[in-house]
Amino acid sequence: MARCIELSRIAAREGELPFACVICRDGKVVVEATNQVSRDGDVTRHAELVAISTAQRILGRGRLGGCTLYSNVEPCVMCSLPMRESRISRVVFSIKSPLMGGFSRWNVLDDKNLSSVMMGYVPKPPEIVPGILMQEAEAVWHEWNPLIWSIIRKRGVFGGHFRHGGDDTRGDGGEQSVEGPSSGATTSGGGRGSQ
Ligand SMILES: [Zn+2]
Repeated sequence: MARCIELSRIAAREGELPFACVICRDGKVVVEATNQVSRDGDVTRHAELVAISTAQRILGRGRLGGCTLYSNVEPCVMCSLPMRESRISRVVFSIKSPLMGGFSRWNVLDDKNLSSVMMGYVPKPPEIVPGILMQEAEAVWHEWNPLIWSIIRKRGVFGGHFRHGGDDTRGDGGEQSVEGPSSGATTSGGGRGSQ
């Protein structure tokens, strides 16, 4: 995740919004990507989709089982379904996306109906690990543009507490504030090795 956050800083330097993604397997980086929306003039070129496309070229279509995807911001709903279909095993992210997120707004990432109805096509939901290095990830957005970041936060586009569907994803009964711990929580048993 630290590398992913550094990549988000590089994306901002290159004229993109500060989004980045890293996919790893067996402790090795498979692919690193930054947002390429401005460069390519294409709103579908989110860092996660760029990374998933490249990873599938390397590992094969739908063969990302055992992979962990790191994103500095919660993946949007557009990027979330390909994560399910490509069989990514674990999704780790830093900043919450309450307006567009594929977990906290529209629950594509953890939707168990997808796998129960479409058995063999969509596997069971990945492990979700939110809030990892959140303060570090938010610092990049602040560096990028303090005014715009404050507006983004104020409007509730990014940032805030990690809660979903009434469940507390920290699992300890408390809320995680945006100024809270930089190590996050998991929906299914610990953020081991996530950083
Ligand atoms: Zn996206």
